[in-house]
Amino acid sequence: MTTKSPPIDELKRLRRLGRKMKTLYVELDAEFVKQTDGMKLSCKPGCASCCYLLTLITLPEGVAIAEHFLADVQLRNKIPDLMRSFFQQIQHIEAGGVKAIRDSYFRKKVPCTFLDTATNRCTVYSVRPGACRYHAVVSDPEGCSPEVRGVVSKVNVLALDAALLSTANQAVGQVKLPLFIAPLPVVMLWAFKLLIEGRAAFDAGLVDPEMGVLDLMGWMERLSADEAAGEEILPPPPDAGTTVVAEDPPT
Ligand code: SF4
Ligand code: SF4
Repeated sequence: MTTKSPPIDELKRLRRLGRKMKTLYVELDAEFVKQTDGMKLSCKPGCASCCYLLTLITLPEGVAIAEHFLADVQLRNKIPDLMRSFFQQIQHIEAGGVKAIRDSYFRKKVPCTFLDTATNRCTVYSVRPGACRYHAVVSDPEGCSPEVRGVVSKVNVLALDAALLSTANQAVGQVKLPLFIAPLPVVMLWAFKLLIEGRAAFDAGLVDPEMGVLDLMGWMERLSADEAAGEEILPPPPDAGTTVVAEDPPT
C-alpha cells in the first residue's frame, strides 16, 4: 500500500459508510432479539465453530471494521498483521462457485482473522458484520463444528438480512460505488485500501486485471451465477419473515 492519504473530505464521506452500518446494527440487534424471543438459541459466548466459515460481507460492513482499527492508535498498529492474515486466508480460497468455495474453506478449519482462538471470542464484536450478528442456530452446537459438520437448524431472520443489504446499498450509492459482497478477508483488504489510500487507488485496483481472488466484480458475478443456479446466497426480499431452516452439512 502507498502511504499517501486521501483528502479529508473524501475520507469523511467514505467513513460515513461504516458509521451508517454501526447505527443500523443497533436497530437490527434489537429487532433480532424481538424476532427470536422464545426461541431456544444454541449460540453462547465462547462457541465459535461458525467463525471458521468463509463469511460473506458487504463493503460498508468492512469499512465499519476498518474504521474501528484506524480510529484507535493501538489498534492501528495491528493493521499490518491483519493484512498478512487476510492474505494467508485468501490462499485457502479455491476456484469454483461460492457454495463450493465456502464448503472447501470450512473443511480447512481456517479461523477468522478476528477470532481470538485462545478464548474463542470475537475481537471485533461491537462491529462484527451482519452475517455474524444474525447467525444463530437452534440445533446442537456440536453440529456446527468443522470436524462434525452436522445438519444445523439455522434461524433466518430474513427481514434483517434484507434491511442490512438495503442500507449497505444506499450507503455505497451515496459515494457512487456498487454494492460489493465478497468473503470477509477479501472485503477487509479493500476496505482498508479505501480508507488508507483513498478512492482513486481503490478504483484503480478494481480494474486491475491481475486481481484474481481479490476481484470484487468477479465475486459479484460468482454470487449472481450461483443465485441463478438456485443457490440461496444473496439476501431475501424485505417482506420475508423468520424461519428455521435445516441446512445440509458441507460435503
Ligand atoms: S452458530 Fe453454532 S458455532 Fe456459532 S455460536 Fe451458534 S451454536 Fe455456536
Ligand atoms: S468477525 Fe467475529 S464473529 Fe464474525 S467470524 Fe470473525 S471472529 Fe467470528
